[in-house]
Amino acid sequence: MSADDSSSIVEKTQYVGGDVVSVLLPLPLGTTYDYLVDDGQILGIGDFVDVPLGTARTRGVVWGPATGDVSRERLKPVAGQLDTAPLPAESAAFVSWVSRYTLSPPGAVLRMAMSVPEALDPAKTTTAFTLRADPPSFKSTPARERVIAVLNDGPPRTASDLAREAGTSPGVAKGLLAAGVLETLSIAAAVPPVPHFETAGPTLSAAQKTAADTLCRAVQDRGFAVHVLDGVPGSGKTEVYFEAIAATLRAGRQALIMLPEIALSAQWRNRFTERFGVKPFEWHSDVTRARKRDTWRALTKGGPRVVVGARSSLFLPYPDLGVIVADEEHEAAYKQEDGVIYNARDMAVVRARISDIPVVLASATPSLESVVNASAGRYNTLHLPERHAGVALPDVELIDMRTDKLPAARWISPTLREALRKTFDKGEQAMLFLNRRGYAPLTLCRDCGHRLQCPNCSAWMVDHRLLGRLQCHHCGYSMSLPHKCPAETCGAEDSFVACGPGVERLAEELTTLFPDIRHTLAASDTIHSPRTAEALVRAIENHDVDVIVGTQIVAKGYHFPLLTLVGVVDADLGLSGGDLRAAERTYQLLYQVAGRAGRAQHPGRVMLQTYLPEHPVMAALASADRRTFMATETRARKATGMPPFGRLAALIVSGKDEARVDKAASALGRAAPRHEGVQVFGPAPAPISLLRGRHRRRLLLKAKKDVPVQAILKQWIRSARIPKKIRVQVDVDPYSFM
Ligand code: ADP
Ligand code: ZN
Repeated sequence: MSADDSSSIVEKTQYVGGDVVSVLLPLPLGTTYDYLVDDGQILGIGDFVDVPLGTARTRGVVWGPATGDVSRERLKPVAGQLDTAPLPAESAAFVSWVSRYTLSPPGAVLRMAMSVPEALDPAKTTTAFTLRADPPSFKSTPARERVIAVLNDGPPRTASDLAREAGTSPGVAKGLLAAGVLETLSIAAAVPPVPHFETAGPTLSAAQKTAADTLCRAVQDRGFAVHVLDGVPGSGKTEVYFEAIAATLRAGRQALIMLPEIALSAQWRNRFTERFGVKPFEWHSDVTRARKRDTWRALTKGGPRVVVGARSSLFLPYPDLGVIVADEEHEAAYKQEDGVIYNARDMAVVRARISDIPVVLASATPSLESVVNASAGRYNTLHLPERHAGVALPDVELIDMRTDKLPAARWISPTLREALRKTFDKGEQAMLFLNRRGYAPLTLCRDCGHRLQCPNCSAWMVDHRLLGRLQCHHCGYSMSLPHKCPAETCGAEDSFVACGPGVERLAEELTTLFPDIRHTLAASDTIHSPRTAEALVRAIENHDVDVIVGTQIVAKGYHFPLLTLVGVVDADLGLSGGDLRAAERTYQLLYQVAGRAGRAQHPGRVMLQTYLPEHPVMAALASADRRTFMATETRARKATGMPPFGRLAALIVSGKDEARVDKAASALGRAAPRHEGVQVFGPAPAPISLLRGRHRRRLLLKAKKDVPVQAILKQWIRSARIPKKIRVQVDVDPYSFM
């Protein structure tokens, strides 16, 4: 290619009246649309614009030069340019990348990046007071002097801020204004304070220091790199990545920390505030819309320097990101399962590559994907082998439930009961872990065996006694317990019995065994907001409870000094089913739960009730041998060509009409790609074959690592000609097989 040729394909950076641009709209549309740039407009890529769409107007982003799909005469002009900073080029590149990888329409991904469109409206300005340069003489009072001292010492303040800081009534500032000593000016929303990065953290241990130094250097040098921060619970991973955040702030850039359960992480939030002197900006489902609007708006101006959030925080318009931390990187919660289906941990790596910055994946039980990437040399591993201050990790004991027999309708074995008694006698705390919400997972008729099922889903109704209702955990449908069995041939009265335990039932058993001990239930039904999470933490820290009965919601991150016994009631629960990661996930979850026991000066003890004591997961937990377990898992995945050694993508076909769903699924089956290194399984009914009233079928594509999966999937779905009423969801790298 000659120099002359290349000049013709250079994208313009400015488009003026008469040019044509393509605009991406935050709607699930397959393509961008072309618009004419009007006279007097000067547009650049990334600019937010108002454009006509049908009879309405909508907002979008200038995405690039004209696509030329529509002839020039038929184009409509851009209606207006919004007075905000453009979408950063790195954010736009990320939107395109995620769209291509997940096969979601680019507009659907842009919608995640523009989740609060009102942030594009002009911000309301507020009036602030400041000192005049040459004030006239005036009558001095102590209150007036205090107001002047505050303003002498900092930026302009609103009347209420000024009154609060000077300890006066708002009238004092107004009096000074009237006297010509102060003047007002309009300011946009206050610039948020920069976290205090110069405050020193704790003195780090040698291993912590090595890890922290590596991360700080990576932040200073920029450049894309993935660091797996692999350390047992309590080894100081958070302290170490706090150093990387401080280094990022020192360099004047922004930091993003992703935490899967940030809304509930009261302890994390407090630690951040203690260390950095200000609150982090939060971004998750519990943040109000107004606050999100302000954060989004401030971000485009480079305001918030540290954001902590859930998956969606990746899509914010950071102008100058310097580091991303994905804490608890192994968590399945990083996978978004509806709408645009993506794994935020993986996309964090992509986002970091686009910005050419380091990313930290922190976990006590790194995912097999990360471990394999590290051993292949693609990721760097930072080990923190010990708990801070040498506190020992708890011993894990297996309780063999084949010999430690349970009485009928009881779930706490004699061995665990004895251990609980000893713990309570010493005045220490215990946790009983069972990953099942409610009272009982199944309710059936004693007379005919009829099981209460959700009318919208292929799932049992779960008894929630605290609510006095039965609930479907998939669609939220609820009902009261029927007085009569609804089975046509039965009709027996008061014949329903609860089968199996949930946390509520376990709490009931505890009360029977230990009438005087105080328990608290910790499941998403009771712990669902920052406020309830903080109340729980406080109750445990203040020793207002003796035992926590909880689901996976209590598995992560918490430190409770008096908690010395963890009993896992059904350690085998996650092992059944056809999930590729069942063993890995069970190991990770139980290891995390075990990590709650024994901190500070009290050694901990963990007991797992299992019917499968020889299972590799149980053996690994009991012998504290993660390495062997992961090596065995890795070999199995390699032998079967499963991820990360091969690739998977699922198609989920769904619709209201079962026959049509079957027809579409069969059509997909017939159109299955015949490509070297690709296998297709199915269609088969999904394990949850009915969900929210929609029938579901699944197909699974398995491919060798180097196969261009996206191109094949695209071609496949197009060729099967799916009718409009049938939805086909594409799940690249599936985590859920339900
Ligand atoms: P992790 O994130 O690996 O679970 P944390 O960073 O939460 O570990 O550390 C566990 C506890 O030990 C925290 O209370 C933390 O403040 C404390 N800690 C860790 N490292 C140090 C250190 N070097 N000096 C003082 N306290 C530390
Ligand atoms: Zn349901």
